[in-house]
Amino acid sequence: MSTPMSNDQIWQAVLGELELHISKASFTTWFAHTSIGLFENEKVVVCVPNTFTKTWLEKKYHKHILSSLQNITQRRIREISYQIVQNSPQKIQKQVPEKQKTVLTPIQNSPQKIQKNSSPFNLKYLFNSFVVGKTNELAYAACKAITEKPGEAYNPLFIYGGVGLGKTHLLQAIANTMVQKGTAIERIRYVSSEKFTNEYIQTVQSGEARGFKDRYRNIDILLIDDVQFFSGKERTQEEFFHTFNHLHQQNKQIVLTSDRSPKEIKALENRLLSRFEWGMIVDIAAPDLETRIAIFEKKCEEKGFFLDKDIITLVAENITTNIRELEGVLNRIIANHQLRKQKPTKESVEEIIMSIKPRKTRGSVAPKTIISAVGDYFEVSLSDLLGKSREQKISFPRQIIMFLLREELGHSFPAIGNELGGRDHTTALHAHTKIKNEITKNEKLKNDIELLKEKIYQI
Ligand code: ADP
Ligand code: MG
Repeated sequence: MSTPMSNDQIWQAVLGELELHISKASFTTWFAHTSIGLFENEKVVVCVPNTFTKTWLEKKYHKHILSSLQNITQRRIREISYQIVQNSPQKIQKQVPEKQKTVLTPIQNSPQKIQKNSSPFNLKYLFNSFVVGKTNELAYAACKAITEKPGEAYNPLFIYGGVGLGKTHLLQAIANTMVQKGTAIERIRYVSSEKFTNEYIQTVQSGEARGFKDRYRNIDILLIDDVQFFSGKERTQEEFFHTFNHLHQQNKQIVLTSDRSPKEIKALENRLLSRFEWGMIVDIAAPDLETRIAIFEKKCEEKGFFLDKDIITLVAENITTNIRELEGVLNRIIANHQLRKQKPTKESVEEIIMSIKPRKTRGSVAPKTIISAVGDYFEVSLSDLLGKSREQKISFPRQIIMFLLREELGHSFPAIGNELGGRDHTTALHAHTKIKNEITKNEKLKNDIELLKEKIYQI
């Protein structure tokens, strides 16, 4: 019989599930340093590091957290409160009695526990935890070569491929390996292009260009994740161009990832495009069945949880394009096993696969889903949204809807006008341009849109 899960393990399982439904950026922003402080009498106290996180979890993620907690523990939960505790994960862990920790799986190893020691990198992402197959061997080999001879072999290295195929894993493996080889942590910079953009915008606003330049120029390796977000951000691209040149001239290593090839990144300046093409470009594609089985086995091994071969094959046959989803299925299997004392069977695993698979993708969402998600979010009624009022508190959400209908569903402007109570196409065009512009300047709006997209696609 397995022991009940500790609070820590429950929380790790909840995070594992939330991670599947929330963008990586939001996930790390809002869920790093969170934990369960208390779980008693249908009440849960979630520890958070600061007021900011508290507000966001309360306002935006409460429902998710609740349903995920209930789902995982199969217990009724009457109340969740959020309490600010500094360094919460460490404190909480100490409170967990030793014997409760001896459960089947060392879920503590999961990716959320990044800040275990002083390394800012995710210690789970190493070369030897990366399974090599035909579709990723080139990217793997190139990354490894870089750690042997940084700045010499391939500079820059540009890796592209779909979501959840191991790009971030490889970047982090480079960082971890360089640290192991003795490079000082401060000389390695891993950053998403979004973070680079935000830091740059802040720099411009605060007039402190110096700190920014120091941070990005006095380093040996720059690892930039998801450069497709540079698309259309002219000034950031310009700054990045100079950073790139500065580092490259000194033979400092640059590695970039993207979800598409450099040529396919829209609104990317030519001079930057040509820089990206200077070195080596490799792609990562979805792994074949054999490799997916090997990856799934590796993840089981990492968690110390062993599954029959036919169950492993069943999962690998059904989850084909995103390794993160493979991990999601495994987390669910483990949670079911521990909490419901359920031995995984083909049927129970099939059910888990079904619950993960039919998630909505871009383009498959109905316009009314977008309209009502935005309406709920800004607390504006449908009739107001479709009506005549030009009051800011109504017209602004309306413009956001128009923007999303265009960006997410690719609707034409006349169609968008129609969708919103028969407005003129120029109104839709104007709304789209305005919001698109404003997102680059307004951090809050950007977050709002990000959250809205999450809402739209996960329902
Ligand atoms: P991407 O950045 O391409 O979206 P990630 O690097 O975040 O994808 O990978 C998603 C998850 O899948 C990570 O937990 C990663 O460890 C895992 N993963 C992806 N490819 C492999 C692989 N070849 N071997 C082992 N794990 C992998
Ligand atoms: Mg990534």
